[in-house]
Amino acid sequence: MNSKLTKDDLAQMNRPYFESLEKEMLVNVACNLRALSVELVERLEKNSENSNLPPSSDNPYKKGGEKKVESDTSTPINDCDAAVIEGSVEGSPLNLSSGIVDSDAPKQECVAEGDLVNPSDPSSAPTPKKRRPGRQPGAQGVWRAEPLVPEGTVRHYPQECAACSGVLFPDPEAKPHMGHHVLDLERTEKGSRIVCTLHHYVGIKCACGHETKAYPGEGQVFKSEFRKKDLKLSEYVLVGPMLATFISALSLRYRMSRVKIREFLYYWYGTQLSVGTIDRCIREAGLASLPVVDNLLAELQDAKVIGVDETPWYEKGVMKWLWVAISSCTVVYIIGSRKKEELLKLITSAFLGWLISDGYGAYRSHKNRQRCLAHLIRKAIALTGSLSEEAVRMGEWLLRELRGLITAMSEDGEDAKKKSRPILARMKKACYLGSESDIPNLKSLCREIVNDWDAVVAFVKNPELPCTNNDAERALRHAVISRRISYGTRSPEGSLAYASLLSVIETCRLRGIDPWNYISEMISRSRRGMSALPIPMPN
Ligand SMILES: [Zn+2]
Repeated sequence: MNSKLTKDDLAQMNRPYFESLEKEMLVNVACNLRALSVELVERLEKNSENSNLPPSSDNPYKKGGEKKVESDTSTPINDCDAAVIEGSVEGSPLNLSSGIVDSDAPKQECVAEGDLVNPSDPSSAPTPKKRRPGRQPGAQGVWRAEPLVPEGTVRHYPQECAACSGVLFPDPEAKPHMGHHVLDLERTEKGSRIVCTLHHYVGIKCACGHETKAYPGEGQVFKSEFRKKDLKLSEYVLVGPMLATFISALSLRYRMSRVKIREFLYYWYGTQLSVGTIDRCIREAGLASLPVVDNLLAELQDAKVIGVDETPWYEKGVMKWLWVAISSCTVVYIIGSRKKEELLKLITSAFLGWLISDGYGAYRSHKNRQRCLAHLIRKAIALTGSLSEEAVRMGEWLLRELRGLITAMSEDGEDAKKKSRPILARMKKACYLGSESDIPNLKSLCREIVNDWDAVVAFVKNPELPCTNNDAERALRHAVISRRISYGTRSPEGSLAYASLLSVIETCRLRGIDPWNYISEMISRSRRGMSALPIPMPN
């Protein structure tokens, strides 16, 4: 801090003080205030591109340029407005280093987009088409240097005749018509190892004379415009269900990149897999979990209490939102816009229980709702640090009542009711007083509490409700850290797969079930076109 003005100094400066000053003194005071403003504006403009601040500290709404924010979440601005806004930021009014604030600077003219190209600015030149991730067309491929050596052979026989439906019996002498290698992870008592087996598919001749052939199982096909090939769930793949699960665990739960997973498998298991194969396994696990998530969503609607929260997410650099809904035994994540429709996918009209949420508008239409008190407490704490004495006093008052209410409600039945009643009365009084104040922060917090009073104090009448949505916030932590490492997902399908697999993993963890055994079974069944088993409920 170069400016010598402290918070205490600012608190003493008000209109009567300025009016009492002689002109020369007033100029001195104004210069000191300007020095402070310059310093603060410069600090506000700092971001990861022009200082050593980390990218995670950047404003999520401005990341990657103004047009990157998903258009339907913000009010649309036409190109004309955008040009003017841009002009006023880069033009003279905020150019503090020149030391001149030029109010007569010509207003930026509204020009057509094509005219905005500035030859001296390389960023305005037409950008070349962005390179796709993965192997580039024409690049040399990499093949396995040494052939796989299987430890054993598994023979697959047809069970009944395709023509006459007669029962067929395995024939150990029959020749296979096709085969492939499978690498799978075997979990042993003290660890795990990767085993290679050869799978043979055999044809058997029926008494009726027809020969029926066994084939690897096949499941659903997923199409995506963001992928060159369709993804077909099938047993005819190199990576077995448990190894595919292991790879998904390393990616989602342990947040390793595809490249690091390849390195990990090579050094610790001596197994060579390509990044493409690893990526396929993670997608496959995500897509196989879609039907399971449909079940979880249905189960969620029967819950008595659901905590909800949302956090920014990026899909190919475009800002989206990751939503979570958590009950006592189910967690579901979805990635989408911040609109209410997205919430309605998680919390449908069938849900009649209590919603624990922060103050975000999309939640307000739900009837039975408890506001998170931790959010209000943080806002009250902010007030206690403000410059105005009134705001500090009222902030401390609100803080005392909010904390007091939580403490009172932690006591048993009748005691809680007796102690909370006077607190509620005092809090209401404080809020009515505060809503008439001229201090914007104080006024808005008090009005927020008054306008949403029933949701703020719902837990007083219903002591079984939690008074914070900590569960939902905690459920988002893992994904927030992943977002900071990976900058989100790259396609709608990737987002769907990520959110679905995360829902399955976290629900298993919440129900005290080994997620990896469950997911391995889920992949194995989906590769044979069988529907997934529901995640067992805890006893
Ligand atoms: Zn037959």
